[in-house]
Amino acid sequence: MLIVKKFGGTSVGDLDRIQNVANRVQKSIQEGHQVVVVVSAMSGETNKLVGYAEHFSKNPSPAEVDMLLSSGERVTASLMSIALNEMGHSTVAMTGRQAGIITTSKHTKARIEEINPEYMQAALDKGKIVVVAGFQGVNEHGVITTLGRGGSDLSAVAIAGALQADLCEIYTDVNGIYTTDPRIEPKAKKLDQISYEEMLEFASLGAKVLQNRSVEMAKKLNVNLVTRSSFTDEEGTLITKEENIMEQPLVSGVALDRNQARVSLIGVADRPGIAADIFNTLAQEEINVDVILQTVAHDGTTNIDFTVPTNELEVAKNIVKIFVDKDEIKSTDFNEAIAKVSIVGVGMKSHAGVAAKAFSTMANENINIRMISTSEIKVSMVIEEKYAELAVRSLHNAFDLDK
Ligand code: ADP
Ligand code: ASP
Ligand code: MG
Repeated sequence: MLIVKKFGGTSVGDLDRIQNVANRVQKSIQEGHQVVVVVSAMSGETNKLVGYAEHFSKNPSPAEVDMLLSSGERVTASLMSIALNEMGHSTVAMTGRQAGIITTSKHTKARIEEINPEYMQAALDKGKIVVVAGFQGVNEHGVITTLGRGGSDLSAVAIAGALQADLCEIYTDVNGIYTTDPRIEPKAKKLDQISYEEMLEFASLGAKVLQNRSVEMAKKLNVNLVTRSSFTDEEGTLITKEENIMEQPLVSGVALDRNQARVSLIGVADRPGIAADIFNTLAQEEINVDVILQTVAHDGTTNIDFTVPTNELEVAKNIVKIFVDKDEIKSTDFNEAIAKVSIVGVGMKSHAGVAAKAFSTMANENINIRMISTSEIKVSMVIEEKYAELAVRSLHNAFDLDK
């Protein structure tokens, strides 16, 4: 089999752990597999580099930030390759560019446009272990880009797709996908399988165990994806097509996103197209707007509230200001002390009353719901951040997820 194995930050967090990963890779080679290893930066490394940049500038040039951040993954890839080499394996370490990953030019959250896997394929054909620095690519001019935080997952899935690998394994510090973050609810249960659709909701709603774009791509390219631990031999969670899953519970899990901020636009001019103008401008900057709420004010204007990831708030503020300056918005308000808690499950499609039960659960805990958004397979609620963990545990319990 050809297997792409991706190891996250904790799994390569120090030199002993890099050796541990090298041993795992060796085992797979001895079992007769061809292996491509994709690595993250050592844990904490990317944040440290971000901090360095911010030491000099509140607003560092995104192109320079990408050049800087991509170095973290290169360190790990080189060390992994050296370790495997020392164990007698023929290896080649590659940057994103050498792996043929071409992206858009949107620095710090570029999208993969194509992968030219010839160099990787040639190395595999020669019997080498390929070790790729995750999280990075280059734009059409060869300028280094990165794929958004957690983006090594996407590198792995995209490479697995391009090489038509039999399997893509994401190794991390938990045994798989749980009914909720096991750090918040120790009673959380590991799922043996989960559908691409649910996993995509989970990832988009804050469960950082997989980056959301990686799940989107796995679904599109039909990549067999497994999440498991690099520290144990336990079987992980298979992410697969909905029809492959036998039993569907009503609710599969609870997700929490603390990194959300609320933007309130007060006194928005009541003209057709104003919402389109505002949200198109936000979209051009790749700002991920989520829950949107519009209410009509007394004076004929409207109020629009929406949420954005906290780290995109500054850019959102600047965009909103353009409309304030044009007198199309009277005033604005921003709140970072919010969290979004969501329940996810394809079983909801065919059952009424799930949302009502979620709202009652919040009511029983005296938690005020500020905003709501639903889809066929999720219910999201924006609440005050200080109630976030209580909300997660209450929902987990209310939907019997620990059973
Ligand atoms: P890596 O560095 O390996 O990429 P991450 O920190 O990005 O790992 O993701 C793993 C973490 O995701 C876990 O330690 C866990 O706290 C968190 N997590 C959040 N929600 C879930 C969930 N539903 N199942 C498993 N882990 C989750
Ligand atoms: N090192 C990057 C990050 O911390 C990418 C990754 O780990 O997937 O976001
Ligand atoms: Mg990750």
